[in-house]
Amino acid sequence: MERVRSSQPALAGLVPYDPKYLPADVMISANENPSSVPIEVERAVLERLQGFSFNRYPDPLANDLRDAIAEANGVSRANVLVGNGGDELLFNLALAWGGPGRTFLNVPPTFSVYAANAALTGTAVVDVPRKADFSIDEEAVLARLAQGDVDFAIITSPNNPTGDVAREEFLLKALDTADALILVDEAYCEFAGATMASHLREHKNLAILRTFSKAYALAGVRLGYLLAHEDVISEFLKVRQPYSVDAVSQVIGRTVVENRALFEPGIAGIVAERDRMLDTLRSWADVEAFDSRANYILVRMEDAGAVWQALYDRGVLVRDFSRSARLEGCLRITVGTKAENARLLETLRAVLDERKG
Ligand SMILES: *Cc1c(COP(=O)(O)O)cnc(C)c1O
Repeated sequence: MERVRSSQPALAGLVPYDPKYLPADVMISANENPSSVPIEVERAVLERLQGFSFNRYPDPLANDLRDAIAEANGVSRANVLVGNGGDELLFNLALAWGGPGRTFLNVPPTFSVYAANAALTGTAVVDVPRKADFSIDEEAVLARLAQGDVDFAIITSPNNPTGDVAREEFLLKALDTADALILVDEAYCEFAGATMASHLREHKNLAILRTFSKAYALAGVRLGYLLAHEDVISEFLKVRQPYSVDAVSQVIGRTVVENRALFEPGIAGIVAERDRMLDTLRSWADVEAFDSRANYILVRMEDAGAVWQALYDRGVLVRDFSRSARLEGCLRITVGTKAENARLLETLRAVLDERKG
């Protein structure tokens, strides 16, 4: 056959996700941890992989890892589900709570994966845009939830790419306003020191998403997890791929959770660097730097697309949002090592001065 019939209609007009992850000297575009795991953790993983049974299928539910995560978060195994990155769990959320005739409340600008998953699953999206300063329009979200037709909502805290934390009082009100499943995406919570985990017990409609990709330096491993009521987890079990979390990742994840205290100094160092960078960027008249509780900083400036290119030409890769809806003029800078941050600040200052002529 010289032709093939078309794929399903929902794919028309969809563009594959492009992380715009180009090679560069200084890679500060993807919110990764600038350092790999501590050497003790690496050694413990390699030890556990000696004589490993690579020929056997993994435990489909990664129960040893679930138990470690449950213990670390003061919940039970039944309240934890592990996925192939947080991204897989976000997709599973759209499969389980979305679908044709279902409605997802989104709070843009935010992580673009949410809207893409809704499009793929034929889920209707209700956007309640953030205000001009990127804070959540709390009254508008609550009013929309109160209409009662929203099946699920995602609130990202700290939000990617804007960096702000959702107010706890607002989230609690949202949870009490309707029975919509509310997923709080806490991919960056370790940098903010804020979590909704203590409210899981009294709110059946609260789910929390976490990842090992950021604070725990495992972006290359693909591990994320969900904390939720066991009745919510059991719905996710119906849509998940049975072996999505491989056996090696399960070992690595368990070793990281058991040694999580070793990551604390690194996290504190990133937070200190973030605040130091914010101070510098705020002192510049030609850059608007938004407050951040995460490991990245959103900045707005004139001709941001051209500035992005000039930075890249000088070996520094940041994330370009200058042509994204509601983020016009914005770039996102991931906090890197001290040396990388110094290079970013120096290069950005030089590029801006050159453009001024
Ligand atoms: C990075 C990120 C995730 C999850 O990433 P994974 O690498 O798939 O675990 C989820 N939500 C947000 C907002 C993120 O930035």
